[in-house]
Amino acid sequence: MLPYQTLQEAETSLGRNLTFAETLWFKYSAQKSDYILYCHNTLFLFVFYTIAPLPFVFIEFMQFKNIGKFKIQKKVKNSLSDMFRCYKTVMQTFVLAVGPLQLFSYPVIEWIGIRTGLPLPSGSELFWQLLVYIVVEDYANYWLHRLLHCKWGYEKIHRVHHEYTAPIGFAAPYAHWAEVLILGFASFLGPLMVPGHMITFWLWMILRQVEAIETHSGYEFPWSPAKYIPFYGGAKYHDYHHYVGGKSQSNFASVFTYCDYIYGTDKGYRYQKQVLGKLTDKLRSNGEENGDAYHTSVQDLKYE
Ligand SMILES: [Zn+2]
Ligand SMILES: [Zn+2]
Repeated sequence: MLPYQTLQEAETSLGRNLTFAETLWFKYSAQKSDYILYCHNTLFLFVFYTIAPLPFVFIEFMQFKNIGKFKIQKKVKNSLSDMFRCYKTVMQTFVLAVGPLQLFSYPVIEWIGIRTGLPLPSGSELFWQLLVYIVVEDYANYWLHRLLHCKWGYEKIHRVHHEYTAPIGFAAPYAHWAEVLILGFASFLGPLMVPGHMITFWLWMILRQVEAIETHSGYEFPWSPAKYIPFYGGAKYHDYHHYVGGKSQSNFASVFTYCDYIYGTDKGYRYQKQVLGKLTDKLRSNGEENGDAYHTSVQDLKYE
């Protein structure tokens, strides 16, 4: 809740006029407790998990030739009822595990010092904090994910997430409830190290969810803006991890590729890429100008 009753009071306290965004924030948050503002995360979790995978479902069922060719594992088809089953299971996990955690974790947020007042974070504060959150979570997730691939972790927990050998958007958070909580923990590390504004925290939670859905979408688009992010893994990178399955000791990172490179856990993937690259060259030298081995024969090739 903001410590001002009116816009004028807020402006006097800041010593300047409020920006348009600050005025909106004032009107929205002035009468809401910090706890209620924090609980918005639960709402965003449900809303973005429901909406973000829909474009991929649309692409899957409309079977556009021009877009369909970017599907990574073309031979795998999921029915609408399969997708709905996945959605229902994830929603149950959210309600039973993540919802209560979000509601009861507020003291941690208070302790971290996430602020809700004015001024709002500047563009550069927002950018640098989100960058720190992404890098910290990615590094923590690399090791937590690698740990989940030990015999016990895989059989008792991580096996559920690997039920999808060809991931779909709705399967991004499809996992044992314990895994959802373990990996969710990593997303609090960045804000813990560099506390910011509640809006930054909301954006961070939305961003990580949308990123996970894109990574599990089953489609790799050459025009994706994410391609311009240095060391960004993307859908094809994580698809390999799912395709290889439980025995996979490759591509553990969730966002960037540098951890797998440094710790040598991308050798199988790099070898496979090399083989596919040669096949693509062969297709093109045979006159198939648009030949792309990955998009035509990924399932027929032996992964390392
Ligand atoms: Zn895994
Ligand atoms: Zn996955």
